[in-house]
Amino acid sequence: MDFSLGEDQRLLRDTVRRFMEAEVRPSVRQRNREEKFAAAELRALGGLGCCGMLIPEEWGGAGVDTLCYVLMLEEVARVDAAMAVALSVTNSVVAWPLYRHGTDAQRRRYLPRLARGEMLGAFCLTEPGAGSDSAAITTRAVRDGDFYRLNGTKSWVTNGGEAGLYIVFAKTDASAGARGITAFLVEPGFPGFQVSRYEDKMGLRTSRTAEITFSDCEVPVANRLGEDGQGLKIALEALDGGRVGIAAQALGIAQGALEAAVSHAKQRRAFGKPIGEFQAIAWMLADMQTEIEAARVLVWQAAWLRDTGSARLGPCASRAKLYAGEMVNRVVYKAVQIHGSMGYSRETDVERMYRDARVISIYEGTSEIQRLIIARDLLAAGAQAPHEGSR
Ligand SMILES: Cc1cc2nc3c(=O)[nH]c(=O)nc-3n(C[C@H](O)[C@H](O)[C@H](O)COP(=O)(O)OP(=O)(O)OC[C@H]3O[C@@H](n4cnc5c(N)ncnc54)[C@H](O)[C@@H]3O)c2cc1C
Repeated sequence: MDFSLGEDQRLLRDTVRRFMEAEVRPSVRQRNREEKFAAAELRALGGLGCCGMLIPEEWGGAGVDTLCYVLMLEEVARVDAAMAVALSVTNSVVAWPLYRHGTDAQRRRYLPRLARGEMLGAFCLTEPGAGSDSAAITTRAVRDGDFYRLNGTKSWVTNGGEAGLYIVFAKTDASAGARGITAFLVEPGFPGFQVSRYEDKMGLRTSRTAEITFSDCEVPVANRLGEDGQGLKIALEALDGGRVGIAAQALGIAQGALEAAVSHAKQRRAFGKPIGEFQAIAWMLADMQTEIEAARVLVWQAAWLRDTGSARLGPCASRAKLYAGEMVNRVVYKAVQIHGSMGYSRETDVERMYRDARVISIYEGTSEIQRLIIARDLLAAGAQAPHEGSR
């Protein structure tokens, strides 16, 4: 087994790292204080190919493998987790399902602009009354000639108010339960589309998260994604890939926090020596690095499985997201602890990372939902190794 990165993968990682260090790190704290969305920086990353990484070149994408994609997200999140979620949503749960299930006309209209970073994507599944239980959504879509009319409210929409394309899930047949949900490609200029408010969040303060109201929103029939009733299948398939991206975001935050903690442990002195020489601090650092590396193996394995088209991706992505999401919270806790009172100050990056990390075990499926997926698979399929049964 070879864990070394190929030439292309190293080049991509180093390019994104250089960009983040030069263009984002110097302003990340100030931008957080101002709660300013990183529109220009995201557009620049789009210019480097980071918005349509999994999309074939013929549709304007970078057409790279999933490992390149997770390397990119890790490098972005290492400096700015809020930028990473904007990219993860655009790539994993908007551009990818559009490529997989869209008509050629839909791909032509939206994919090149998404892939070049000229517009961001948003994914609208969650509602005020339906999060984990996504089949319980109540947004309705009723056919009216050449249009569907959408009515309902979507909450916690990442990139809401900033995106140029929204994939919206709505019930077309309320009596058919999970099989009565259909996906739509909605532009913010469609009549009846309204950003009703923005969430006031604990972390990811520079990521825009909106509530969106649809009031008789007119969506052309040509903008239905996939067939009537396929919506939840499209959403869940997109989320399998999305979880690999969110796990990579966790890796990036954790790696950034570890680097900050190591640097502080070397230069902060107490009782006549650098605090890194106290075993209590050194062991925290050792545990942080060990957990990050364990998560990295799970994330890379899920990335590899995704590229093989394996039916085993679902539980594997859930394991990566579950472990990485809980790992990053342990790591940022220790990073703040190692910084002492400075870790509680907005002058440091670890304070922001501590708040940003908290959401990883909540969005794109909570840790409890990941355990449910993993356990359901384990009980149905037996204790099969993830690569067995891959094709
Ligand atoms: C910053 C942020 C960005 C987001 N971005 C998006 C986005 O772009 N698009 C989008 O559609 N959504 C988005 N979400 C929503 C997110 O995916 C949901 O919040 C998440 O799926 C959980 O849903 P909920 O908040 O309604 O929690 P609930 O479903 O109400 O769950 C509450 C608690 O009950 C537990 N629980 C629920 N069901 C079970 C069960 N069967 N077994 C055990 N425990 C259970 C949960 O794990 C949790 O602990 C975002 C959320 C946040 C915070």
